Amino acid sequence: MIAAVMPTYARYDVTLERGEGVHAFATDGRRFLDFGAGIAVASLGHCHPHLVKALQDQAATLWHVSNLYHIPGQERLAERLAANSFADTVFFNNSGGEAVEMGFKMMRKFHAENGDAARFRIISVEGAFHGRSLACIASGRQEKHTAGFGPLTDGFDQVAFDNLNEMRAAVGPETAGIVVEPVQGEGGIRPMSAEYLKGLRAICDEFGLLLMFDEVQCGIGRTGKLYAHEWSGVTPDILASAKGLGGGFPLGATLATARVAEAMNAGSHGSTFGGNPLAMAVGNAVLDVILETGFLDHVTEMAHRLGDGLEALVAKHPGVLEGTRGMGLMQGLKCKGDGGENGELVGLAMAGGLLSVPAGDNVVRLVPPLIIEAADVDAALAILDDACASLAAEAA
Ligand SMILES: *Cc1c(COP(=O)(O)O)cnc(C)c1O
Repeated sequence: MIAAVMPTYARYDVTLERGEGVHAFATDGRRFLDFGAGIAVASLGHCHPHLVKALQDQAATLWHVSNLYHIPGQERLAERLAANSFADTVFFNNSGGEAVEMGFKMMRKFHAENGDAARFRIISVEGAFHGRSLACIASGRQEKHTAGFGPLTDGFDQVAFDNLNEMRAAVGPETAGIVVEPVQGEGGIRPMSAEYLKGLRAICDEFGLLLMFDEVQCGIGRTGKLYAHEWSGVTPDILASAKGLGGGFPLGATLATARVAEAMNAGSHGSTFGGNPLAMAVGNAVLDVILETGFLDHVTEMAHRLGDGLEALVAKHPGVLEGTRGMGLMQGLKCKGDGGENGELVGLAMAGGLLSVPAGDNVVRLVPPLIIEAADVDAALAILDDACASLAAEAA
């Protein structure tokens, strides 16, 4: 008999019932230091008092109205995102996949409105993850996500990671744009160099293409800037944001420049729930904290401590770990071996009281709440140290 909850997930044998700051508590009494944060979602930890209050106040005022009417929270959040980014305008949706999908639609619409409807193809890079809709899996092109869901939606191409020659060669008369994650998440915490992102921008400018950044995972302060691409000095035309933006409330956003968004008009896109008052109250509360003076400096400070500690672990456990990679509080530990060792390490760390998340390329992903303190970083490193020692002992 099939479970009532459709079995599309391989779940750990744990039920988390309560969260407080950087900790999550299980029904069996265990307490975990949560360096998974619901996969980079609980950016301010669990039950942050400012977020709880914002949600409770809004819940007692107005939950939902249609986008047939003005929603002041949208105007406020959009203005704040625009004021603090490359963007001029923002569309609100409910998830990362939706934010990406809308970006794809905007790329096509831009060219169509500019008399070049033949440009509809979008190029991504290997290791990409852009979500689970039909267009998103066609763009991500990972076998485990596309198997059985064919034929793949037309209009998506993929080239090697960090290879500008291949990217250039892939551009054709039908190409509408390029999409990349400035730091690949699911693909294994792989940051893209500033040179590479600059090269992508140059290719887009040369051929009249649009550049889209999928910052669903690496955005909203995770790397120590509001958006990760800011480190490179390169700006996109479109950006997909979600995960940390809602701090745990389902919220996505598609940001764009005026030039691109002017192709959209009343009726060309919509969402029933997108940007509803509850989501906007929480999104604005998240920005209250992240945009506070000094908050992102704290992220960078913690990131250095975590990064240095992870480097030390690699030096100490050369039989188990191959290296570290990442930016800010989006860090990966690459395991040695043929694959699956990352899952073992995640399991061992969990037994030691630390939640982390496996990523592609045999990487253990660490994406803690941005509010972590030095003691939390040290505690996580100590648990990982023990987990590595256990893994080494098992392998011996
Ligand atoms: C998680 C993720 C998505 C998909 O987000 P959903 O909210 O699950 O639809 C898309 N792109 C990136 C980079 C992600 O990490």
